[in-house]
Amino acid sequence: MSNPAAPARLNPAAMARQQVALASQHLDIDPGVMQKITATKRELTVHFPVRMDDGSLRMFTGYRVQHNDTRGPFKGGIRYHPDTEIDEVRALAMWMTWKAAVVNIPFGGAKGGVQCNPKEMSPRELERLTRRFTWELLPVLGPERDIPAPDVYTNPQVMAWIMDTYSIMHGHTVPGVVTGKPLELGGSLGRFEATGRGVFITACEAAKVLGMNIEGARVAVQGSGNVGGVAARFFARAGAKVVAISDSHGGVFNAKGLDVERVLSCKNQYQCFISDRLEASDITNGELLELDCDILVPAALECVITGANAGKVRARIIVEGANGPTTPEADEVLHDNRVFMVPDILANAGGVTVSYFEWVQNLQNLLWNEEEIDRRLSEIMRKAFNEVLAISQQKNLPMRIAALMLGIERVAKAQELRGVYP
Ligand code: NAD
Repeated sequence: MSNPAAPARLNPAAMARQQVALASQHLDIDPGVMQKITATKRELTVHFPVRMDDGSLRMFTGYRVQHNDTRGPFKGGIRYHPDTEIDEVRALAMWMTWKAAVVNIPFGGAKGGVQCNPKEMSPRELERLTRRFTWELLPVLGPERDIPAPDVYTNPQVMAWIMDTYSIMHGHTVPGVVTGKPLELGGSLGRFEATGRGVFITACEAAKVLGMNIEGARVAVQGSGNVGGVAARFFARAGAKVVAISDSHGGVFNAKGLDVERVLSCKNQYQCFISDRLEASDITNGELLELDCDILVPAALECVITGANAGKVRARIIVEGANGPTTPEADEVLHDNRVFMVPDILANAGGVTVSYFEWVQNLQNLLWNEEEIDRRLSEIMRKAFNEVLAISQQKNLPMRIAALMLGIERVAKAQELRGVYP
């Protein structure tokens, strides 16, 4: 029985729609076009069996939501998480559409997920799950159609299995069907670091706006995976003090700054942080968000900064490594408290940007060097940041609304040019 006293679970799809409604108040877009570009184009839910190592069969549920492909093929990650559900995937797919438009790369938006707990599955079980899920998605995937990538609890190995399964079904190798692959299979240099690097680049731009020095800035990072872990490394290398970092169980804190390499190698070796060995104290994920710091990087899951805790955030800058970590209610509080927000669809767009580079290289059988990739990524991230900042300053609007306006307007313009068939 549901507990009437318990707070209602925040619905990411409702949150994504609310954000669009707020941004569209400042845009002059034909209502029909607006309806077309905010509606989800296609949703696929699949229930499929996987043979477990003990010989039993287990059913799993997976989703692929294709939000919009007006500006190019659908693009978006696949996550494996026990709590993944359709509304979460819908929201993530819509955010991908705006994100690709904000950095002005020719992709649409999609997202996928499988309800499973990869921490409790063996590598062989994960391989069988991935291959069967890919097979279920075959009618909607393709290098010109829909190109997945890694997200929470998926990685380059999972992408390799997707690429192999798709290729076998088509009788030839198709590297461009997925990005975030291992380098040996057509992955791009710099893709693994891309999202964390983009978070760092946009954090530096935000610091410039506030006249803050990155060297010595105190940074708290929630999450230590592909986005959080890599971003923490970039901050530490630039001389910032990473004072806290966490995983799903909680984190570690040291006001003088953590040794990020040691912290991450401890996590890698023991699958957890051992505070005694790291000259740190334990901290909960909730406490981390409220730490006295300069820059806060939520880089785990959505809806962690809410109306309940936004007033306790002490950071001057928030850089959203995760998708959807801040609710609209929290946004209002943070704006009133003059916290500078670098919103997800801008801050974490480095991943989709280098995914685009990977896809371009795959389609043309080219190999770019890391220098070229980093240069192009920096250029794109800085340009997008400054375009969003200009809208925000000219119209005196929060950075999230400005980013959404930029993204939505680009998709609307493309829609108007394409028209409606027939
Ligand atoms: P990951 O699987 O590599 O890491 C996830 C991290 O979050 C891990 O450290 C995990 O321990 C932590 N975590 C999980 N549940 C948590 C909880 N309840 N509280 C606190 N921490 C928790 O995933 P990732 O690729 O780093 O993705 C993190 C976020 O960044 C997601 O919102 C994802 O959608 C977003 N994102 C990822 C990419 C990418 O390229 N990987 C690109 C853009 C956005």
